[in-house]
Amino acid sequence: MHPLLVLKPGRERSLLRRHPWIFSGAVGAVADDLKSGDTVEVRSSDGRFLAWAAYSPTSQIRGRVWSFEQAEMPGPELFRRRLETAFGLRRTLLPATAVDALRLVHGESDGLPGLIVDRYADTLVVQVLAAGCERWRAVLIGLLEELLGCPRIYERSDTETRELEGLPRRTGPLVGAAPSGPMEIAEYGLHFLIDAAGGQKTGFFLDQRANRQRIRALCAEREVLDCFCYSGGFTLAALAGGARSVVSVDSSSAALELARRNLDSSGMARARVFWIEADVFRYLRELCAQKRSFDAIVLDPPKFAPTQRHAQAASRAYKDVNLYALKLLRPGGLLATFSCSGGVSAELFQKIVAGAAADAGVSATILERFQAAADHPVLLEFPEGEYLKGLLLRRN
Ligand code: SAH
Repeated sequence: MHPLLVLKPGRERSLLRRHPWIFSGAVGAVADDLKSGDTVEVRSSDGRFLAWAAYSPTSQIRGRVWSFEQAEMPGPELFRRRLETAFGLRRTLLPATAVDALRLVHGESDGLPGLIVDRYADTLVVQVLAAGCERWRAVLIGLLEELLGCPRIYERSDTETRELEGLPRRTGPLVGAAPSGPMEIAEYGLHFLIDAAGGQKTGFFLDQRANRQRIRALCAEREVLDCFCYSGGFTLAALAGGARSVVSVDSSSAALELARRNLDSSGMARARVFWIEADVFRYLRELCAQKRSFDAIVLDPPKFAPTQRHAQAASRAYKDVNLYALKLLRPGGLLATFSCSGGVSAELFQKIVAGAAADAGVSATILERFQAAADHPVLLEFPEGEYLKGLLLRRN
């Protein structure tokens, strides 16, 4: 018998729709002595089986569902199936020859809540972000080793989510030695260095891969401004697509150093790029004051609103950068503007950008909408998985 978690009356609705989170407010009773990561059998108040879940005593998300089938208990067998399905999905969706960096497991969306696995060449970078996968970490890492045969697995469990789950931050090698320096990956002929130990997220923004390709196709002969450029993803894509010049801005000198090296190893001339270490909010104002203008602008800021609680402050920040970007855009120019905030929906984001355009006194047309690349799947029943959204606008 597994310990029980019984919901309050009427609170089974979201689980019946296969949403994988159980919020603390829905929990009626739990077995005594439950520990972080324990497997619980979740039942409705009238005793009906709903799911197997991992218990997390400190988080608002008190349980994360492993399975909605009574016969499908969490354990090595289920995890192996989930991993094989996840890898199979990537094989059908992405050209194995053009890229050697891929998100192989995307948490809830791949039926493995809290587990992120990114492959960079022959190295896996793993994030174990929830109590359930922390409990099963040895089994999960063992399966990754067995199924993928990568000589090196490195852990980057140093996110805020870990703290919400009551888990200490953890980084370091799990299998093989830590990489001695940045690793190199290729993406459609461009080369990027990945700093698995010290870079943002697991080292690279794999979710923007397809959007970088779009920018590459759109920037021929354009003067481009790449804001929040990190290691130069959009900058290199624009140059590869024939941009006349790119001004690339980031506040991190370490990111800009990687970006410079990425430009060199991709065999592109330095003369067309101006790397600027600055705060984007301030720098956009300076560019406006100098009456500068551009034919294409990319705005890919960090996560201003991790959850809905931060949505208001985040809205102001998004509005600010979009307003100045629209002012800096020549008529006919393109703005690719993104939000990776889970707390800001696509609908809200569009409203914010519309507000920015109104204040800037410009009209714009939505040409396309952006989302995360195909190796970041979204479960229909888990819209929270759709964190990255973006708009391609033309200033009229
Ligand atoms: N476009 C990038 C990812 C951007 S991530 C890519 O495709 O790879 C967000 C970046 O914003 C980080 O590199 C971070 O250093 C930078 N950043 C955060 N706040 C900033 C600010 N106020 N001004 C400038 N850069 C900032």
